[in-house]
Amino acid sequence: MSDHPFLQAKAISKVYDGKHSAGVRNVSIEIQPGIITAIIGESGSGKSTLLRLLYGLLSPQQGEVRFRGEKIWGPEEKLIPGHDSMKMVTQHADDLNLFANVWDNIATLLPNTNLKYKKERSEELLQQLNMLHMADKKIATLSGGEKQRVAIARALALKPEVLFLDEPFNQVDTSFREGLQRDIRNIVKETGLTVIMVSHDPAEVLSMADELVVIRNGEIIEHGTPHGMYNHPENFYTAKLLSNCNVLNNQQAKELHIEATMEKVVIYPEWISIVQSFMPKKWIVAHILFKGPYEELILTHDGISIKMFNLEVGKYALGKGVNVKVSKHLEF
Ligand code: ADP
Ligand code: MG
Repeated sequence: MSDHPFLQAKAISKVYDGKHSAGVRNVSIEIQPGIITAIIGESGSGKSTLLRLLYGLLSPQQGEVRFRGEKIWGPEEKLIPGHDSMKMVTQHADDLNLFANVWDNIATLLPNTNLKYKKERSEELLQQLNMLHMADKKIATLSGGEKQRVAIARALALKPEVLFLDEPFNQVDTSFREGLQRDIRNIVKETGLTVIMVSHDPAEVLSMADELVVIRNGEIIEHGTPHGMYNHPENFYTAKLLSNCNVLNNQQAKELHIEATMEKVVIYPEWISIVQSFMPKKWIVAHILFKGPYEELILTHDGISIKMFNLEVGKYALGKGVNVKVSKHLEF
């Protein structure tokens, strides 16, 4: 083992020309090997820029990126940017040969010097990405999600150490998405692959990532585990990214018996429940959004709206008065 950090950005900046001076500013980050690190932030916060800087597709204006101690050269310094042990997949899987089948799209990347290995490795990749049964299918006939599977198999063919994913599941149906996310997690567990992904989808990063990095206006504002960060976000911005939460001011929060010292009170929908009580039922069920296994209820009182989840579908009728309890809240 070397003493060098696996992948490290040291105070890197890349600010684009233009009036908004958007980009990435003074970011330092250390990526741990063998896990999934997810970068999350609102649209335009600099996620893709940071990913491209780490991968070497962009050169930092200040600072540097090192992989096992070795400097990553950007496009200004190197003809083919990036490092041989890194691969990137974005939402546009555009380097597939549409007229060839799945098998050939993958096998073609492997050298002909060892045909036995070529066959075994292609088969292994198809198995890892759950595509063995469609090896003979032409790419042109595949769904978006299936094409993304092939793109990922291709990226992994030559066993890179790091896989970068820039919102790769955006065009993929929800039902396909979860399977693909699970398969990538399995590959990481089985092979020790390091994944650095970018997403704005909280469900995706919470279920996939081992480590979460939050970026706002080109700066990293916090990082931690999905559990830790979801339950104890340091920033209001992070809470809003990770949960479709209720935001009240501290006066409104008094209506829920919360005495807050800070200005903003954040309550995740699952922290609210309906309780039996002899108190006047002041919260009114104003909307019911049926979600299949549960309902989202919007309760109103005195101009305040709060949303909560109700697992007992159909129990509360529209217009009904209820009492609520809040088990937890955050203040910012
Ligand atoms: P994200 O991936 O989080 O949506 P990006 O990293 O793509 O954000 O972009 C961050 C900011 O930089 C945005 O405001 C975007 O408009 C701007 N930006 C991105 N690429 C360029 C570019 N090539 N030239 C000028 N501005 C850019
Ligand atoms: Mg982006």
